[in-house]
Amino acid sequence: MSPRVAVLSMWHETNTYASGRTGLAQFEAFELLEGAAIAERNRGTGSVLGGFFDETELELVPCFAAGAWPGPIVAQEALDHVVARSVATVGAAGPLDGLLLNLHGAMVAEGDDDPELTLVEALRAAAPGIPVVAVLDLHANPSHALVERCDAVIAYDTYPHVDMRDRGREAAQLMRQILAGRRLETRLAKVPILSSLLRQGSAQEPMAGLLARMRGRANRRGIARVSIAAGFPFSDVERAGISALVVCEPARRHVATEILEETVRDIRAHREEFHATRPGPRAAVAQALASPVRPVVLADVGDNVGGGCPGDGTALLRELLAQRAPSAVVVIADAAAAVAAGELGEGARFAGEVGGRTDGMHGAPVAIDGRVVRVTDGSYTTAGTWMEGQTFSMGRTAVVDCGGTLVVLTEQRVPPFHREQLTSVGIDPAERDVIVAKGAVAWRAAFGDVARLAIEVDTPGICPVDPDVLPRRAALVSS
Ligand SMILES: [Zn+2]
Repeated sequence: MSPRVAVLSMWHETNTYASGRTGLAQFEAFELLEGAAIAERNRGTGSVLGGFFDETELELVPCFAAGAWPGPIVAQEALDHVVARSVATVGAAGPLDGLLLNLHGAMVAEGDDDPELTLVEALRAAAPGIPVVAVLDLHANPSHALVERCDAVIAYDTYPHVDMRDRGREAAQLMRQILAGRRLETRLAKVPILSSLLRQGSAQEPMAGLLARMRGRANRRGIARVSIAAGFPFSDVERAGISALVVCEPARRHVATEILEETVRDIRAHREEFHATRPGPRAAVAQALASPVRPVVLADVGDNVGGGCPGDGTALLRELLAQRAPSAVVVIADAAAAVAAGELGEGARFAGEVGGRTDGMHGAPVAIDGRVVRVTDGSYTTAGTWMEGQTFSMGRTAVVDCGGTLVVLTEQRVPPFHREQLTSVGIDPAERDVIVAKGAVAWRAAFGDVARLAIEVDTPGICPVDPDVLPRRAALVSS
């Protein structure tokens, strides 16, 4: 009989600088499922859970899954619900041999700086004495306590995160090895560097070289698995920073410690490369409009929806209109404007202020005046390189043509992870001169191949190019 392993997921990247709270409604909008519905939604998709369900030699028992788009601090009652349902479903699952967890690793809740630890401790108490294997995001900020409470902990190797399913599969394999008698534990080292997201891309330096050298150290010594989590810098908690992880047999702990020490020295030696400077909106738009090659992607780094920003930043829209861009597209999350334009209907004239409503951090509202050219319900299914096969919704969505600049007004904020965000509303990104992508790096999975030139822009917001400009209360943990 195959070992029975519970599957659970708690996935949220919390930007502690974002206004508002992430409540159960935000989880319901993304993923809040129990039992068989978890497998139904994820099997065959590019998610970490999809990777878990690729495993055929374990009997996987889907218990509870909660995920929400990155955003503000998680409400206490939402965390309480997720932990309580996770414990209850594990309790009702019957005899279990292991726990397979999909965690983000950068979640923060009201009154709880380390919710992943809270969940793992609750699960350990509910199902004592069985191994726990966890997958973390590359933007995880894991604590020592969390890693110590798990057996094997691995992180995505890629940013954009195109290896989620592979890591899910790998975690299931590690679980299988543990259940076959191989003892594993995970060692962690933390480096107190808040890195610019622009310098975390896994195909570029410094990350590509750091991970390759760490793997070289591990391979030479026969170590099972190493990861570098570049960390989520917009998190005012002690555990933020860069993390290095080594999965090893307990007998090889001293080897893991050596690998970690060498890797920490390597990261520190490259610390300057984790910082970046970029042009502001005016210079970037001028450069885009003067470019001989098109499309040009303007990355709205400060309003990075995938980093928890509101998605209603107006700095680039304002400049595109001021500099009379003849052919651009900008997505603005503005529920009131999207619903109003949608009510007017296709062909109508829309005049009003859009964006800049959530906080005072992402630019003031901008007055637009144009024709509504498309109204949809905003849902789309992805076919791209990651999260493929999943369906997302922007809510009521209206496209307003403002003299060549298309403003896509959406009821919900959705990160620019997939080109269907535009194609589903009739916009071919390859035919635009300028595409504004509200992100730092992850947009490359959606538009990287059509972009002939990419300009990362230092726009105002809570995901700034340089994370050190944000105020901090928490000191960072070192080693
Ligand atoms: Zn991430």
